[in-house]
Amino acid sequence: MVETAFGSALQRSGLRLTPQRMAIAEALAGASKEVSAQELYDRVRRRHPYIGRATVFRSLDTLVGGGLAQRLERPGHVSAYVWCEPGHHHHLICTTCRTVEELDEEAVAPLAQTIVRTRGFRVDHATLDFYGQCRACSRAASREKTAAH
Ligand SMILES: [Zn+2]
Ligand SMILES: [Zn+2]
Repeated sequence: MVETAFGSALQRSGLRLTPQRMAIAEALAGASKEVSAQELYDRVRRRHPYIGRATVFRSLDTLVGGGLAQRLERPGHVSAYVWCEPGHHHHLICTTCRTVEELDEEAVAPLAQTIVRTRGFRVDHATLDFYGQCRACSRAASREKTAAH
């Protein structure tokens, strides 16, 4: 058994750990950015050429179902995926460099309280993905703007 955070997360998820699934999960956990299924397949194939495209696509669905990966959107109805510890649900996704940062529950709790107060709706579960520019990318963009003037 692999002694890593991702290994124990995999174990806790209760998913059956085939060698292929481990390799795919490892590639996703190591990406630190969101990746499409095709991009993940390209990563996996470099180290594990015996793993087929269909296996990668199927395993991604399994990981999402087991709470270890989350599906994100890209323009043009393309799905991207990010490795996610079980119980974690919120992300800041940079559409420029595709880095994904985790957003803690504390940041979202006030919004849930506002919803129960103003709408009478009790939130049991929320998944919030914010798309935009990360700090580095928005700084770079404003530097470019300043340089152009
Ligand atoms: Zn996450
Ligand atoms: Zn960025």
